[in-house]
Amino acid sequence: MLKAGKPKIERINLTQKGNFLLDFSLRPADLESYLDEYIIGQREAKGIISTKICTHFHKAKALLTKEPRHESVGFVKNNIIIIGPTGVGKTYTIKLIAKKLGVPFVKGDATKFSETGYVGGDVEDLIRDLYWEADGEIEKARFGIVYLDEIDKIASSGDIIGPDVSRTGVQRALLKPLEETEVEIKAPQDGFQILEYSAEEGRPKKKKLTLNTKYILFVVSGAFNGLEEIIKKRLKKQKLGFLSEIESREELKINYLKFVTPEDLVAYGFEREFVGRFPVIAVFDLLTEKELFEILANPNNVIMLNKKRDFKVYNIDIAFTNEALEEIAKRAYLESTGARALARVLESVLTPFERTLPSYPIKTIGVTRELVLDPEGYLHGLLTSPNDQAYRKAYEKALSDEKERMLHFLEDRGKARGELPLEITPKRAQLLFEIHKGEDIELTHALEELIGLYRQIKAYENTFSRRNQIQVVFAEETIDYIMEEVLKRDQGVFSFCEKSLSRFEYTFALLRDTGIKSFYITKEAFIDQERFLEKLLRV
Ligand code: ADP
Repeated sequence: MLKAGKPKIERINLTQKGNFLLDFSLRPADLESYLDEYIIGQREAKGIISTKICTHFHKAKALLTKEPRHESVGFVKNNIIIIGPTGVGKTYTIKLIAKKLGVPFVKGDATKFSETGYVGGDVEDLIRDLYWEADGEIEKARFGIVYLDEIDKIASSGDIIGPDVSRTGVQRALLKPLEETEVEIKAPQDGFQILEYSAEEGRPKKKKLTLNTKYILFVVSGAFNGLEEIIKKRLKKQKLGFLSEIESREELKINYLKFVTPEDLVAYGFEREFVGRFPVIAVFDLLTEKELFEILANPNNVIMLNKKRDFKVYNIDIAFTNEALEEIAKRAYLESTGARALARVLESVLTPFERTLPSYPIKTIGVTRELVLDPEGYLHGLLTSPNDQAYRKAYEKALSDEKERMLHFLEDRGKARGELPLEITPKRAQLLFEIHKGEDIELTHALEELIGLYRQIKAYENTFSRRNQIQVVFAEETIDYIMEEVLKRDQGVFSFCEKSLSRFEYTFALLRDTGIKSFYITKEAFIDQERFLEKLLRV
């Protein structure tokens, strides 16, 4: 049962460590540039969504941590309607944001509501799922994000004379949870209850666990077929001067959905009150062929990483030339299912290889345009003469293209987010490439790993200096060497450096009284300490 929440004054316990909201300090631009590392295109929508979601959580934080008088203003949620065709990044955007913020995310389908007519229960189930997604932490679950797809399917249909009762009924049933309601959390077996010791009654008291939806953000999405016509009609009626101007320029290919207003959504079949619950509207564009290529070329792309992992399980390394990606994008574009088509095309091209190569001693494959154009023929050629130079060259070209795409990504990231905490020297670029490629992880994660290593080495430099009462500085190439070695040996920075520098420690003890205050450790010194120290002590 959905029950209206009684207005309560809540506070966040400021002493509660690790509370997501207390630590929340992200700015819209930070969130947007994070999205830029994953989502291609959709500039306007990314901007709107990251801003409004950021504000939503900052507002909740302000309300929950400030004086009670703020409560009188109330809390209007920034629930979002996303309009856009399939496979263009609507769900992915929200999922990425939830991941970045560390809030639970659940996705449901609104078509289910109209079919079952059991809206209350379905929404409740989704909200309850948030609780499980949050590993049973109510404090986390109450700031979760609920994503409802195919929302356009609950718009009342224009063909029915008079209101379409079942669909408007579904919309009405959603109003309360969208705003605020208490949902009982039940365990799969029975009512989930906590025992609480009541001091007055002197015995354990049963208390129902409920989740309030006040701060839960709702994002609904759909393709909204037919909405464009409604908008066009309205714009024509309004006789806006700019409209005839842009219409006359056919090549501009206007996306009329960008002009959507709440009134258009009412005309589409939504109740005014329902639309009112969504102060934010974001429109996603169809992806162009070039954008589909960029998605494939992005070293964070999960579709590509997954495909590579499919081969990695057989110890086969697969790499793609730029031309192959262009060909795949071209073919996927014709399917009109956005980026989803990319996965399908990749499957159809590469499945013959995935089926056959594990039975052969072939361990590398460079995907070229020729391979994409004729997979079976290419495979036949490869199996007939696997030692043909052409195949080795194709793989090398693919590796070099992948590396170039990685450098391009880093350059863009640098422009958007400013300098990295470490300089990417050619050596580091190679290490980064190896981390990224070795396990087929997102480049952003590989970069975090490399930055983490760099920081650990700098931290060690500090600890080591303090312990020996002498300022030790590692040359940048020494740092590169340490990074390379610990990655190769899969060893921790601390234990590797401790072992490597043990000889120094002894010498520093001898040097302490000589007045030497600082020490620069070159790569040669690090590798061959004996020689370095001998030379030093001779001086
Ligand atoms: P929808 O718009 O239907 O919600 P999704 O967001 O689920 O589509 O996209 C499906 C997959 O396609 C995503 O997981 C992602 O890998 C890829 N994708 C879609 N759009 C983009 C985009 N604009 N940039 C990068 N990847 C995308």
